[in-house]
Amino acid sequence: MPQNIDGKAISAQIKEELKEKVADLKISRGISICLAVIQVGSDPASSVYVGNKKKACAYIGIDSRSYELPEETTQEELLQLIDKLNNEEEVNGILVQLPLPAQIDEDVVIRAIDPRKDVDGFHPQSVGALCIGQPGFVSCTPAGIIQLLKRSGIEIAGRECVIIGRSNIVGKPMALLILRENATVTIAHSRTENLREVTRRADILIVATGKPKMITREYVKEGAVVIDVGIHRNEAGKLCGDVDYEDVAPVCSAITPVPGGVGPMTIAMLMNNCVEAGIAGR
Ligand code: NDP
Repeated sequence: MPQNIDGKAISAQIKEELKEKVADLKISRGISICLAVIQVGSDPASSVYVGNKKKACAYIGIDSRSYELPEETTQEELLQLIDKLNNEEEVNGILVQLPLPAQIDEDVVIRAIDPRKDVDGFHPQSVGALCIGQPGFVSCTPAGIIQLLKRSGIEIAGRECVIIGRSNIVGKPMALLILRENATVTIAHSRTENLREVTRRADILIVATGKPKMITREYVKEGAVVIDVGIHRNEAGKLCGDVDYEDVAPVCSAITPVPGGVGPMTIAMLMNNCVEAGIAGR
């Protein structure tokens, strides 16, 4: 059987480390960290994500402030709130839960967040900094995948890595991060020709297509490491990823399960970004 890349255990380990760090910052330097979480409307999935983020904050010792705005909130009202939070010294991180209702332009909202408080790492300044190798916040899911690989003892440098997906929040920052770790990187997408030939080159295959169980063993080189970013719920309420786990697991050397792989890492890395924001802000 392949090595199970245990995101649940690794994220718990990171949260423990952060909890100690936050307690130490409070005692030794009098620093408290505060995350402001804004949700517009009451999309049930968003409410679950926001609830989980608040729970993680409470566990680690980060103060969280919650702003629950009605569905009909205007862009101007949201921008005013962001401006207020940008100027509040005690707020270290600002997170606007996406997606936003149709009347609000997400790009405008992301750009309005002070890059020093951009704990999601979505601001163009954060993305630009990542691109040219300067310090800045990194999108949490790709940052979590790097931690998964490193903490599972998987060598990255010099290896062939193929990422399927080129979204701004997963595929592109993933490619930049893994390049920073000295992998040789290919980004595949829906217009890639001969996808199987491309993916079969990968020592590390990272799948973020948003297509349930799309990746079967025909796409995977024997002995590859497979990271599944996807998360879907089928009609029976069971979770699955973009990779057909049962089919692929026997041919790879290591694989992330869904649930319990990449998913738990996103919040752990968000908490890490909040702690970094808190330290940088003093
Ligand atoms: P997007 O829909 O924004 O991007 C999907 C990407 O996959 C696109 O670049 C698209 O190509 C490519 N793609 C789609 N179909 C194919 C195909 N048949 N062959 C090759 N490439 C294809 O998704 P996200 O990046 O936002 O998310 C990807 C997955 O990860 C989703 O399942 C999402 O739920 C999950 N996710 C999980 C998170 C977690 O915390 N675990 C966090 C974020 C996302 P093109 O650009 O050409 O359209």
